Amino acid sequence: MQAQKLGAVGRGLGLLADTWTLLILQRAALGVRRYAGWRDTLNISDATLSARLRSLVDAGLLETRPYREGGRERREYALTERGADIWKLLLATWHWEKTRVPREVPLPDIVHRACGAPAGVLTCCGFCGEQAGPRDTEVYRTPGTPGLEQLARQHPRRTRGRLPEDSMSLLPGAMEIIGDRWGATVLGAALTGLRSFSAIADALAISPEVLSDRLRRFVELGVLERTGAGAYRLTEKGIASFPIFACLVDWSHRWHAGVDGSPIDFTIRHRACGAVLQVRLVCDRCGEAFDRGSVSPVQPS
Ligand SMILES: [Zn+2]
Ligand SMILES: [Zn+2]
Repeated sequence: MQAQKLGAVGRGLGLLADTWTLLILQRAALGVRRYAGWRDTLNISDATLSARLRSLVDAGLLETRPYREGGRERREYALTERGADIWKLLLATWHWEKTRVPREVPLPDIVHRACGAPAGVLTCCGFCGEQAGPRDTEVYRTPGTPGLEQLARQHPRRTRGRLPEDSMSLLPGAMEIIGDRWGATVLGAALTGLRSFSAIADALAISPEVLSDRLRRFVELGVLERTGAGAYRLTEKGIASFPIFACLVDWSHRWHAGVDGSPIDFTIRHRACGAVLQVRLVCDRCGEAFDRGSVSPVQPS
């Protein structure tokens, strides 16, 4: 019997739901190109950095380019179109962290170049333009397509060591929810409407120990709350993480389903127009859509 191809969103989560991967891509989006640039600012071991760069090249998110330094040929890494396309995920992640995670040192503001204002981010539908929050959309799973449940069986990657503490990369709340595959998988299950321990365990084929651990952590973080024995629901903070998940699904559809031909395992539909959700992130000050390169981080003074 041939193993079925892993679904698009399962693949996307398997690749991106990893703290180091997200931090490496975030730095690349801010202009880091060379090995030393990541090593010196991320407090990451050589083994981990090399492995992550290799897997990002293999997955087509980074490509290597030669350059010469001191008479020697070296390689630098550039975001491909596919890699650069995670800008929406990074922007949605920043917005959730900024607005939902209390912290002593505030995250830098992001300024929308078009209007010059420190911007908040609204999630809208790319087809009809109307707002597309969790209550405006429906999530469907495609029966029989291996997605999250397959992912849970893969070997999890763990982030060891301390994360860098500069204000750009410290997104501890977001990394708790999307920085590892199992956490992101459990959050995805909650956002698709699964509410009980047994329903999530059945859907994900995840070990009860791992599931208990992630659910307990999400309750501590205020992302989920218990509503009875073995029953959970998303809090407002949890519901507000929907754009992060929607950007992951959108990216996975475009690159894994669209370009790679993976089966669709998850679909988010916009109720108002019925279209499959293509996320459009809109500036809450001027109402214009963001595009890649239209935001710049501003360090707090
Ligand atoms: Zn729509
Ligand atoms: Zn604006």
